[in-house]
Amino acid sequence: MPKSVSQILRGASNYTEKLDTEQWRAFSQGIKRKQGNWCASCRRSDIILNVHHIFYESDREPWEYADDEVIVLCTACHRQIHEQLKKFRKFVFAKLTPQAFQILNGALAVAYEKYDGLVFSHALAEFVCTPTLLERYAKAWEMTAKPKEDRPYVTNDPVVLTRATLKQKQGDHKPDWKNQK
Ligand SMILES: [Zn+2]
Ligand SMILES: [Zn+2]
Repeated sequence: MPKSVSQILRGASNYTEKLDTEQWRAFSQGIKRKQGNWCASCRRSDIILNVHHIFYESDREPWEYADDEVIVLCTACHRQIHEQLKKFRKFVFAKLTPQAFQILNGALAVAYEKYDGLVFSHALAEFVCTPTLLERYAKAWEMTAKPKEDRPYVTNDPVVLTRATLKQKQGDHKPDWKNQK
């Protein structure tokens, strides 16, 4: 089960210090070597490369992650992915109550265990953009999930745009939760 958001935020303060240690340097050099010394996003190899954590767990040190839990990115792509994540979190927090977020967190934990990264991220975008899906999921757990207030979706939001793109590709397909016990 992933850590709660507050737990993650609490651990964030001394995080920067941890990246200034011999352990982190050895770990990140090893990861870059193993993953081919290039940016996984833009494929460039002639620039400064960072090691990015795909997720964090507050009881783990930054270097206590497996090879497939981190990814090598150049500084520009790394900054970009964090900006997108920030926007995404803002989007999620603006629309969900803490309880609904808890349900979402649980649902994502299940999805992360069961499906590959691409399916997971598509499901995530769809899930977050579809309040009724969240409500159905909550019902299945015998919980209630209600939006904080009615807010119109912002059309230039990257997550909404992702959803629009997905819809174009998938037609009007909706996942059937009943068959996914
Ligand atoms: Zn890059
Ligand atoms: Zn990162």
